[in-house]
Amino acid sequence: MTFEQLGLSKALLKAIKEQGYETPTPIQEKAIPVILEKKDILAGAQTGTGKTAGFTLPLLELLSRAKPTKGKHKIKALILTPTRELASQVHESVELYGKHLPFKSTVIFGGVKINPQIATLRKGMDIVVATPGRLLDHIAQKTIDLSGVEFLILDEADRMLDMGFINDIKKVLAILPEQKQTLLFSATYSDDIKKLSNKLLKAPTLIEVARANTSSEIVKQAIYHVDKTRKRELLTQLIKDGKWKQVLVFTRTKHGANRLAGQLDKDGITAAAIHGNKSQNARTKALADFKKGDVRVLVATDIAARGIDIDQLPHVVNYELPNVSEDYVHRIGRTGRAGNAGEAISLVCVDEDEFLANIEKLIKKDIPKVWLKGFKPDPSIKAEPINMGGNRGARNKPRGGGHNGNQRGSRGRR
Ligand code: AMP
Repeated sequence: MTFEQLGLSKALLKAIKEQGYETPTPIQEKAIPVILEKKDILAGAQTGTGKTAGFTLPLLELLSRAKPTKGKHKIKALILTPTRELASQVHESVELYGKHLPFKSTVIFGGVKINPQIATLRKGMDIVVATPGRLLDHIAQKTIDLSGVEFLILDEADRMLDMGFINDIKKVLAILPEQKQTLLFSATYSDDIKKLSNKLLKAPTLIEVARANTSSEIVKQAIYHVDKTRKRELLTQLIKDGKWKQVLVFTRTKHGANRLAGQLDKDGITAAAIHGNKSQNARTKALADFKKGDVRVLVATDIAARGIDIDQLPHVVNYELPNVSEDYVHRIGRTGRAGNAGEAISLVCVDEDEFLANIEKLIKKDIPKVWLKGFKPDPSIKAEPINMGGNRGARNKPRGGGHNGNQRGSRGRR
């Protein structure tokens, strides 16, 4: 299957070629023809499968096939994402694939000034990528007109629900035109997703690539058993011995992320932390420095890392295992993308044995275990309760709050 066979026009094929993509990924092969037939879809696809191009390309194609409308320039496509990072990255993809097309697009999210967004919206946009909270601010202030929306895309819908955005989403849906094409992407099919899709989608085509909750086959996974107090030493050694140049490291808490980044810096390994307490500018800068190679290690919490898109990220380290098993799948999905082999290493101490058992149950396989010489765990150390940084049990109890950011709900506190 080639991109030409999918029925995409020249301007898009040119942009695809410039990106160096040779063949469509499985999700693109399945989703693009169905979307081009103007059908609603419910797609189960994780980050790393090429899903962004899977909806962006046919969206741009359909927009370019449409006859120009007379009268006021209205927003035709709305893409909702759970986090600012993902919104930015989806917008980057829209710009990238649409660079030989005349459409105007913008991204709106909280944590930054609203006025420049208002000014941009006034210019007349075709495509808007947004996080739900800030979008509602614009709706409330009447600084956005969504009455011409023909395409609605919900990206990482499961994560939006996890973050407590359901009411925000409902409010947005209520003001959108009834007649539109809706595409819903979700890594998992929970009952809540089924409920949302029943409400939202009209006779949707189901599209699934790798089975949800299955960790990617091309990611080499390993567990390094180690005592909690020696994790940093082991990480430093792995990075130095392996001469790793770009490592994404996950911690459970914001505090843990800060502390580890500071300690790695002291060990002579450049590191930056990103999490929900950092300003948007600080997060963008840390990510840019990491992508450029100025920072070797990016330490992130699950929420901040959500949607980070870095090509061919070779190493992901779980400095601490996540308490929510699905997060493991999302974390390791940051490596081994679109056909590139990646390595996901987890440093596991005795306190985390239960988390590990739950993860292996979820992914339905045993992860190979490694005991590194000099780092064998001390068998006399007994398991202790894990400090969740105030998050324990909070996952399903999202908190309310204003609409100024998108970092709400329990996950937003990490
Ligand atoms: P996504 O799942 O949308 O986050 O995409 C994962 C990565 O795959 C991104 O870095 C894309 O640039 C890349 N990608 C998307 N489509 C293709 C393709 N057809 N061939 C190679 N890489 C791709």
